[in-house]
Amino acid sequence: MDNTTLIDGKAVAAQLRRDIAAQVEVRLAAGKPRPGLAVVLVGEDPASKVYVGSKVKACEEVGFLSQNFRLEVSTSQQELLALIDRLNADPQIHGILVQLPLPKQIDVQAVIERIDPKKDVDGFHPYNLGRLAGKAPTLRPCTPYGCMRLLKAYGIDPMGKKAVVVGASNIVGRPVALELLMERATVTICHSKTQDLPGELAQADIVIAAVGIPQFIKGEWLKPGAVVIDVGINRLDSGKLVGDVDFASAADKASAITPVPGGVGPMTIACLLQNTLEACAALEA
Ligand code: NAD
Repeated sequence: MDNTTLIDGKAVAAQLRRDIAAQVEVRLAAGKPRPGLAVVLVGEDPASKVYVGSKVKACEEVGFLSQNFRLEVSTSQQELLALIDRLNADPQIHGILVQLPLPKQIDVQAVIERIDPKKDVDGFHPYNLGRLAGKAPTLRPCTPYGCMRLLKAYGIDPMGKKAVVVGASNIVGRPVALELLMERATVTICHSKTQDLPGELAQADIVIAAVGIPQFIKGEWLKPGAVVIDVGINRLDSGKLVGDVDFASAADKASAITPVPGGVGPMTIACLLQNTLEACAALEA
């Protein structure tokens, strides 16, 4: 651990939030409106409530307008789509975030596709994902964008490196693989059916862990000197938050590693703000 760099997501995110707040000040001084973010939560999922609370607070701290919509768990798809239509048409709103997961009666894909791609600050709309796949990103999924900004902040260039992404979800694994490919890494995506995960990881210069299993990736599987970005957020029965990487053993092997908490988590929120600012500017253009 002595020679391992701790990648401080809290500090990088704080700097990004300060930059965004300064840009809001410039906008206001020029007589332009505040960027506006609508945050929609359906139901009572405790983790979602915490995430939504942090997003709203972060918005207010950088001087954005934030509008919160708390809908009953029994909300129909039609009601949610009607709200999205209203927000799509609202000139004060530049970003729309519908917190996932959604209750069973709602088709998530239909909701994602109903959001105006120009206001899709989560970057999950097929238009925005397609732009990322085509190396011409517009609004980018926040967590992957946050991972890339962390690498950049620490001078870690993925070009020519072997990157292994563990996890293939739509919100993290797949888009972060596209981000790494865009930066010209050689990218492998592993998932639950991967045959020899330790064998894949043994070759990885950069590891992105987005599995959802606490402390799953062991230091002994890593190549010495690997850079490890741990996206996982898992709460143990003791209440302690841990990542998808076994931090103690991984930190002994890695050249740089993100902690949990204080790594990718704060970057996700800061990138949501960045996306909202970018969406606002693009809608005005
Ligand atoms: P998910 O459940 O949608 O996807 C998990 C992926 O891991 C799947 O592709 C699955 O195939 C793969 N997987 C499962 N078991 C595996 C195994 N044994 N070996 C290899 N791959 C395996 O999860 P997600 O939404 O991508 O989230 C992943 C983690 O990241 C979770 O801990 C989540 O809480 C966290 N997360 C953090 C942030 C953040 O802001 N830091 C944002 C989103 C998600």
